[in-house]
This record gives sequence, C-alpha cells and structure tokens, in this order.
Amino acid sequence: MPDSFFMDKQTTPPVCNYEDSDYQTSFWDEGGREYEDRTEAIALKRLLPKSGRLLLELGAGAGRNTPRYLGFDRIILLDYSRTQLEQAQGRLGKSDKYIYVAADAYRLPFVDGLFDAATMIRTLHHMADAQKALSQVRNVLGSGGVFILEFANKLNLKAILRYLVGRQKWSPFTLEPVEFVKLNFDFHPKAVRNWLKQLGFEIERTLTLSHFRVGLLKRIVPTGILVFLDSLFHWTGALWQLSPSVFMKGKLEIGEQRLVEIPANVISFFKCPDCGHSPLVDKKEYLECSSCKKKWEVRGGIYDFREAI
Ligand SMILES: [Zn+2]
Repeated sequence: MPDSFFMDKQTTPPVCNYEDSDYQTSFWDEGGREYEDRTEAIALKRLLPKSGRLLLELGAGAGRNTPRYLGFDRIILLDYSRTQLEQAQGRLGKSDKYIYVAADAYRLPFVDGLFDAATMIRTLHHMADAQKALSQVRNVLGSGGVFILEFANKLNLKAILRYLVGRQKWSPFTLEPVEFVKLNFDFHPKAVRNWLKQLGFEIERTLTLSHFRVGLLKRIVPTGILVFLDSLFHWTGALWQLSPSVFMKGKLEIGEQRLVEIPANVISFFKCPDCGHSPLVDKKEYLECSSCKKKWEVRGGIYDFREAI
C-alpha cells in the first residue's frame, strides 16, 4: 500500500491509485518480499496455460509479473496509474508484444470476448466493488477463457487467532469483505468462489500461498527453504484455505461462441468505456468514439481511457 494513494473522486466506486508511487521499489525490490514474489512465480507457473494468444493483466503495476506470461503472443498491461505503466515500459521495453493501457477496472475499454486469458494478482485487494470488477473480466474473456485471480484471504490463521482471543473486532468467518485499511479489502474464499460461479466460471484449481508470512521466520529461515515449503503447501488449497493469499483458476464456461480470431490491429481491441461503442477511430494522438464523440488520449505508447480529453 503506497503512502501516496488517494481516492479518485472522478470514479465510482473509488479507485486506489498508485500514481507517482514507488510501490515497486519500496514494497518489492527493497521491502523484504522476495519470499512472496518467488512463491507467486511458482503458483503462476502451476496455473497458467503454457501458451496463448492474448492475455490481459489487470493491475499490472510496474510489470513485476509480466515476464512470467511470456508463453502468450501478446500481453495487455492494464493499470489505473500511468506512472506505474511508464515504469513497466522502462523494464519491459516498447515492443509489439506489450500493449499499455491506463484504465479503470470497473469500465474496461475492450470489446467482449477478446481475451483467452486474464490475470488479476494483488489487485482485487483494492476493489470496493469486487463483483463489478469481476463481471467486467468475464465480459472481455472469450468462451473457454482462463482467469487467474489472487485475493487476500480474511479467513487466515492469524486473523482467526486474533479474533478468538478478542484482539480483532471483525469476524474472519463471515462472507462479507473486510476493509481493514481504507481501500484495502480481504475476502472470504467462499464469497469469491460464489461470485466466480455466478459469473459462469468453473473453478479448476485453488492454491494457497504465503503460509510462512511471519516476520521472524522470514528473518531466520533462508528464503529458498520457505519458498520450497510454501510450494508444497500450495496444494492444500484444494482442501482448505487458511493462508493470507489465495489463487483461484477459473475457466469461463459459457455456451455462446465469442470472438474466433483476435484482430491484427490493436485499435480494434478497444471500445469506448463510456458508451460501449466500437470500433474507435484512430487519430494518432487520440482514439475517437464516433458515437458519443469522446476522445481518449494515446501518448508515449500508453492508451489512456481514464478520462476523456
Ligand atoms: Zn463513446
């Protein structure tokens, strides 16, 4: 969580904005989170399809996980923060493989059925209206599309113990999300499962992560050993989920046929996030919606759909 976050008043529900945050450096590179990062890499390897055409990475930030998706022909990095995407460009470069999009996860600017896979890692955590964000993901995935979702688990051992000894007011056992810090939410695994099922996802696998996220252990046990042990415990996610982080792999099981081919031209991926019209007209410095006349900025290799210009 960056110190500099603020609630953006332009959007409803509120968006947690990492603009100008040094999240990548302070939280990941220097924040003692090598253990979390490495166990996530293993989970992604276990869940991701080996290859694919087009993947949507929701809440891509500075592109920490993006190199783990290289089996896909093209990857769209989506984040609400433009500066995070600029950091990602610096790490990954401006090749045709990566497409950078600044947008609100509640108003995705993509045509229906476009993607064959989507990931949302450490992002639902900031969603005040998780169901709305998940339904947007469902719309842009094609039939048979794979969705890998990570969420922070309110039903974790530490929260259970704290609740039982009276050191925590909220119950980890109830289904509603808990907002423990402004715009930071933990979810009950059963609630997330229910939402995904309602949207038409079949949950193929559940992994639990970061069982050993305890400061003392992380200091005295070599990281490689903790990562190895945690990777063995991943599989217990099929039986119970009591760890702070949970990964679910959902497959979209819907009858209707979606997009058969992914368009060659990137511009035809997009729709107007305000009125839903597509295709948008390419005016080089912006994309124009011929229906509601809104203009969406294209600058420095980033398509910006947050606010019309
Ligand atoms: Zn429009």
